[in-house]
Amino acid sequence: MTTKLTMDKIVNLCKNRGFVFPGSEIYGGFANTWDFGPVGVELKNNVKRAWWKRFVQESPNTYGVDASILMNPRVWEASGHVASFGDPKMDCKKCKQRFRADTLIESHSKGSVSAEAMTNEQLEAYINEHHLTCPHCGGFDWTPIRKFNPMFITSRGTLEEDADKVYLRPETCQGEYVNFLNVQRTARAKVPFAIAQIGKSFRNEITPGNFLFRTIEFEQMELQMFCKESDSMNIYEDYKSKALKFVEDLGLKSENLRFHDHDKLAHYAKAACDIQYNFPIGWQELNGIHHRGTWDLSRHQEYSGKNMTYVDPFTNEKFLPNVIEYSIGADRLTLALLCQAYDEEQLENGETRVVMHLHPAIAPYKVAVLPLQKNLNDKAKEVYSLLSKEFMCDYDEAGSIGKRYRRQDEIGTPFCVTIDFDTLENDTVTIRDRDSMEQIRLNVNELVAYIANRIKFN
Ligand code: ATP
Repeated sequence: MTTKLTMDKIVNLCKNRGFVFPGSEIYGGFANTWDFGPVGVELKNNVKRAWWKRFVQESPNTYGVDASILMNPRVWEASGHVASFGDPKMDCKKCKQRFRADTLIESHSKGSVSAEAMTNEQLEAYINEHHLTCPHCGGFDWTPIRKFNPMFITSRGTLEEDADKVYLRPETCQGEYVNFLNVQRTARAKVPFAIAQIGKSFRNEITPGNFLFRTIEFEQMELQMFCKESDSMNIYEDYKSKALKFVEDLGLKSENLRFHDHDKLAHYAKAACDIQYNFPIGWQELNGIHHRGTWDLSRHQEYSGKNMTYVDPFTNEKFLPNVIEYSIGADRLTLALLCQAYDEEQLENGETRVVMHLHPAIAPYKVAVLPLQKNLNDKAKEVYSLLSKEFMCDYDEAGSIGKRYRRQDEIGTPFCVTIDFDTLENDTVTIRDRDSMEQIRLNVNELVAYIANRIKFN
């Protein structure tokens, strides 16, 4: 890559190649919503599958759930979202734009200051001391900081007058806490065990933006590990390493990743850290790992009246488990993977090749079938139908072979299979590697095993 990667380059590629489109575009869009297109939905599904494989399928003491987005409103009283949580917002009096004080501080300090747990007074003091100006107009004329509840509110009821207020969940983890007893009983789970979930969350963010980085509707992939207090710090450290290894294995380069321990903690937390990625907009949170103590289960015990105590089957010890949370945004991770994969290569003939070096396991299509000429289409369709039973497979017969290779490079297809006249003679094809552009010749009946071997995520 010779030129600097910008978010605009990623946004343009995503729009033009069918990864991601602006939400409700024909109506002029709907700010900070994005629709995944034919290629993007495959990519994001593959990211989610890879996460589930690593953290549920290959983790014997982890159990999945898929909880409702709409929950009993008492859940959000217990979690603290209704009463006290909320983002610290302030308005620029000059241009009337609204900002989150904590994110302004974090981006000003390039992630070295954690503002999440600061009080309003501390936030204001920092902003004044460092003279943080409005990112929109450059002014320095702020309103006092006020809390803002980021939950979307909707209503339940057939008549408007008897409608009850309900919330779109701002985080998925409450679905695990409220099912702690159900999962423990039905899975006969023994502490330490985790409950995992992938699902949509909704936040009325004050400063959304930067494409998929901060949106008002997004997916979280997260798990809550229930454990004894004496084991909790080891488990916390263990998830820090597992979380890092997962994103490295998916292709994020270690020089673009770093841990960021929180120096100020929420009142109930015992430890907290993020993994940050070096996005084109700078170092930003990719995922969080939090030691939440017994806060969540004790609050739900108090608000629901249900006893959440765990009884150790070996020692008969009774206790409320501690919770270690590991949470990563599927959209934010997808964005990081797109940024990491993007490359502009200078070719020997002077042309520039845009290529997405996505890990083959998450590439939208694993293989594209390309007939060299029209009269080879029937044979090519036969090969397509063989391969598409096993993999997401593209078929393209339009344009020069060079242009077709470029199109596949830009959506990260790891293999292109070309059907030529020899294919009719001896049932062999060329298979081209996206990254090296090298081609080898294989028999059609060797293709499935060859591709399957090279797209594994372990
Ligand atoms: P941030 O500080 O960026 O607002 P957070 O600390 O509020 O994030 P968590 O509540 O811990 O985030 O959520 C876990 C993960 O969910 C984040 O690390 C991020 O990957 C993702 N996430 C959170 N908010 C958004 C959002 N508005 N848009 C996209 N992804 C998000």
